[in-house]
Amino acid sequence: MQQPFHTTILQKSKFKVIKWKNDLLHLLYPDMCLICSQELPNSEVQLCHLCEHSLRYTYYETFQDASSLDKLFWGRVDLESTFALLHFEKQTSTQEILHQIKYKNKSKLAAEMGRRIGQKIQLDQNRFGGIDALIPVPMHPKKQYLRGYNQSELIAEGISKTTGIPVNKSFISKKSNTESQTKKGRFLRWDNVSEVFEINTSKMNDAKHLAIIDDVVTTGATIEACILKIRNELPNIKISIISLAATK
Ligand SMILES: [Zn+2]
Repeated sequence: MQQPFHTTILQKSKFKVIKWKNDLLHLLYPDMCLICSQELPNSEVQLCHLCEHSLRYTYYETFQDASSLDKLFWGRVDLESTFALLHFEKQTSTQEILHQIKYKNKSKLAAEMGRRIGQKIQLDQNRFGGIDALIPVPMHPKKQYLRGYNQSELIAEGISKTTGIPVNKSFISKKSNTESQTKKGRFLRWDNVSEVFEINTSKMNDAKHLAIIDDVVTTGATIEACILKIRNELPNIKISIISLAATK
């Protein structure tokens, strides 16, 4: 049915007012690129053209065969699946993004990267469809207190916004007293490393599949220790790894 003439005019002027309002807001508070802080042409984008094109995507969501991240954990821990959004290489935008998220409190950038991870993993329901909770890799409490936040939690929250999978920040934590670890020095045994973590299984009894969330996976040692600890408590649970970046 055709709308009355005056309604169409009214709608058009309403849109114009909204556009003027947005333009004015943009003029007063220009949106900045989340990576390089260049002014953005409009509020619909989060990154400038240059930063957008500098992203080193892994495209692991399209892989049929094992990725280098899968292979990194072969023979170490049993995993359901792994994903990393970006390749980690020095002197690239990935390094800059990680640095800003870790040390410059760029929560919006972490959330945006988390959102992009969420969009990609949603494309593969076979591998990532049944995740019950997102578990950020914990930081030492003192370190987190000084920094004010845990970057893996910020990324996890971004993933959660897109996928609806809840974040559980209390399931795994780092013990505040790790004195015995330092005393044992570099000849630390694996079972001692996993003793650095504490597991709180309350509220997680029905969970069947967890995804550990990290900012960057290089050697995989921390995540491996986390997983060994979880498997001590919940031997049959499925575990996946989702990271913002990983070594190629
Ligand atoms: Zn930029």
